[in-house]
Amino acid sequence: MKWNLIIFDWNGTALNDLPLVYGSVCSIFKTYGVKPPTLKTYREEITADFMKFYRHYGIPKTASHNDLNKLRARYFEKNWNKAKLRPGVKLFLEQLDKIPDFQTAIVSAEITEVLSQRLCGFNIIVSLLDKIIGNAWDKEKALLDTIDTLGVKTENAVYVDDTFDGLTAAKNLGIHTIGFTAGYNTKKRILAAKPDFPNSKFPNINNFRQIAKIIGYVNNIK
Ligand SMILES: [Mg+2]
Repeated sequence: MKWNLIIFDWNGTALNDLPLVYGSVCSIFKTYGVKPPTLKTYREEITADFMKFYRHYGIPKTASHNDLNKLRARYFEKNWNKAKLRPGVKLFLEQLDKIPDFQTAIVSAEITEVLSQRLCGFNIIVSLLDKIIGNAWDKEKALLDTIDTLGVKTENAVYVDDTFDGLTAAKNLGIHTIGFTAGYNTKKRILAAKPDFPNSKFPNINNFRQIAKIIGYVNNIK
């Protein structure tokens, strides 16, 4: 078995925007005069149903979903540059481009225009990627679309994500999974999704060099 497609997630995986995201969380709590939960707690407990998290840690019921989104958007606008591309992403894409018949894709829940702006801002050569999908709220559907359009079998595809939910979506489709342990979720939560990696041979996957090593290992590239 060899892989010929790697799909990776953007927020928290290729893009280190956790300082930006957690900064926005703290600023929201500050606005309501409530002490914010720690970064560790945030990484352990946050899910797509974020209102539950905010209410649990003391944000009043009078604060609506819309209010919190507005505060978040305002913080993001002012602190846009707190998000950085992970080191080694460009080199990683260049290396993969040299492997014959190997395809690469990004599947992200990020707003498509924002994703394009980011890729452009980091001078990521978009032509090195075979597919870029934004607005992928439904990760399972977007992953399925990606492998279908690129003509790849699930057993030859691998997906890299930094959350329990993202990894579970790929696992539901039978796509191989690499859990990125330095993103939105703690390693404990990543392991709870039972990804193929990390494992005893690759216990910590917190940079793109590690991911390149795994591809080399699976595809037997020296
Ligand atoms: Mg992510």
